Amino acid sequence: MRIVLLGPPGSGKGTQAQAIAKYCGFLHISTGDMLREAADQETELGRQAKGYMEAGELVPDETMISIIENRLSGENCRGGFVLDGFPRTVNQARELEDLLKKKERELDIVFSLEVESERIVERLSNRRLCRNCNRDYNLLSNPPEKESRCTWCGGVLYQREDDRAETITNRMQVYEAETAPLKAFYAGVGLLQEIDGNGDVEKVFRDIASHLNCIGA
Ligand code: AMP
Repeated sequence: MRIVLLGPPGSGKGTQAQAIAKYCGFLHISTGDMLREAADQETELGRQAKGYMEAGELVPDETMISIIENRLSGENCRGGFVLDGFPRTVNQARELEDLLKKKERELDIVFSLEVESERIVERLSNRRLCRNCNRDYNLLSNPPEKESRCTWCGGVLYQREDDRAETITNRMQVYEAETAPLKAFYAGVGLLQEIDGNGDVEKVFRDIASHLNCIGA
């Protein structure tokens, strides 16, 4: 299956994409993770993307489309994939459609995680990530056992630069202006499935899984 996860920042896209990938054996493709990795490694792409990311702005479509084109050409995508963070604009969605069409493929389903905005701010400002294994924690609802350390691997936890209060508002505005219109785009082609993302991780996953034929839920 080829799946897209839409949703505002902090809606749980990453967590749900990881779970879908694990249970269905699909590849999890997170453009945010790819850009953060490039920024950490100080590659040319990372240097270009860093400023946009820290300001909560979108990296230009041209750059993102070439990253995805590259990623989707890999053999390991053939068994199915979950896209997390791409597309983020209608232009990216059209390009993705064209890319898949060239391979005689198409998307199977697009989930949109719907979360109340107060909850988003609370989730983002309390989110911490492990620098080593990328696992995410929430200081209120899913804290690590030891302060500032990953419970799984002992790695150091950090706060994403763009999860600070100053940037969160901008990211939410960018989502509304650029990404939310994708819901109408995908509803128009019969692919959109809205999911209530306000509940706990397991409940949201059960809801998603009920639409996936790879999970006997
Ligand atoms: P995320 O981890 O998905 O929240 O993405 C973090 C940041 O990476 C975003 O705020 C953007 O600056 C950038 N980014 C990730 N995916 C895209 C995309 N498809 N288009 C443009 N910018 C992106």
